[in-house]
Amino acid sequence: MDKIEPDEPIDRIEPDEPIDRIESDVERVREPVSDRMRALSQPLHPGTSRGLGCSRVNPVDPVWALRQIAFQLERSGAPTYRVRAFRRAAEVTSALPAGELSRRIADGSLQALAGIGPATAEVIMQAAAGRDPEYLTKLLGGAEPAPPSAMRNSLRGDCHTHSDWSDGGSPPREMAEAAKDLGHEWMALTDHSPRLTVASGLSAERLADQLALIGKLNAELSPFRILAGIEVDILEDGSLDQREDLLARLDVVVASVHSKLRMPAGEMTARMVTAVSNPHVDVLGHCTGRLIAGRGRPQSQFDPERVFAACRDHGVAVEINCRPERQDPPDRLLRLAADMGCLFAIDTDAHAPGQLDWIGSGCLRAEAMSIEPDRVINTRGGDAVNARAF
Ligand SMILES: [Zn+2]
Ligand SMILES: [Zn+2]
Repeated sequence: MDKIEPDEPIDRIEPDEPIDRIESDVERVREPVSDRMRALSQPLHPGTSRGLGCSRVNPVDPVWALRQIAFQLERSGAPTYRVRAFRRAAEVTSALPAGELSRRIADGSLQALAGIGPATAEVIMQAAAGRDPEYLTKLLGGAEPAPPSAMRNSLRGDCHTHSDWSDGGSPPREMAEAAKDLGHEWMALTDHSPRLTVASGLSAERLADQLALIGKLNAELSPFRILAGIEVDILEDGSLDQREDLLARLDVVVASVHSKLRMPAGEMTARMVTAVSNPHVDVLGHCTGRLIAGRGRPQSQFDPERVFAACRDHGVAVEINCRPERQDPPDRLLRLAADMGCLFAIDTDAHAPGQLDWIGSGCLRAEAMSIEPDRVINTRGGDAVNARAF
């Protein structure tokens, strides 16, 4: 097997970082947390809260506050391992028997719980006392609400997301709950395929297990729906890295190149055309593979007219990948795909709940190219996407 290039933004799980290092990245307080929350809570869709990643129940519920901190850190691009302390503390706190949280706050034994440290304990105590947690105040002070966009208001789901079953940082349920809170009706869970071992790609057996889990979660989360999906590797010959019978069972198949990104243009073109001609493929993921942050990575070379024509002719959506380090395809290719009459999927490729809020950047890019919502598959309902009734 060829060496897999370090392509995906895989957040390495590391031991907890001291909280003060996290705090050093946070901007200073600008206004009371309640005002910022109100500003960020303008519903994008009736009846939903915006950008908050979890439903707010009490004025300042400690679990809500911890999850909200995690969401805002993720939204700002913080790597998963830096957010983990807050998500773990939320988990521990929500699992406590009735009355235990107040007892521990009263006798000062919060930090005796595994998973609660000084910073998370402070958030809990401030929230439980009915005060805005300072940490959250600082984060919300630095958070910019996404600019309003007609395209964003038309979107009903996200076709490309990852959970901790592959290289994401949170379980499928938390991803789904965050997607729901953002106003989505559905979210395709598209963890990696087996060959991407560096991202814990799912074997056929694990994918089958995940399908069973999705069935259970959908029964609980209804009417919100998790569409069963995969981000399947496009192998060198254009074939796909998962069993045919499993691909046939999935609702959404995103096919992406993650290896041999620098193969000659002729071979890459044939590879991509073969993949999008596969009847199971719904979306061509981050087509150039470029990275525009960090060390960066140049675009793969291929004949875009042939690849986009194959997408158009087979009803495969060209992905507008919203990850800040990807923004793929680049403008020139996005313009070409738009002019050629392709369908699009505006996808976050989120690896954590807060990253689901990155969808706005792709909406703005699509609008700048005058792409109408009816050419974007995630303006459709979950059933239509599943049935490819575009
Ligand atoms: Zn990918
Ligand atoms: Zn992905």
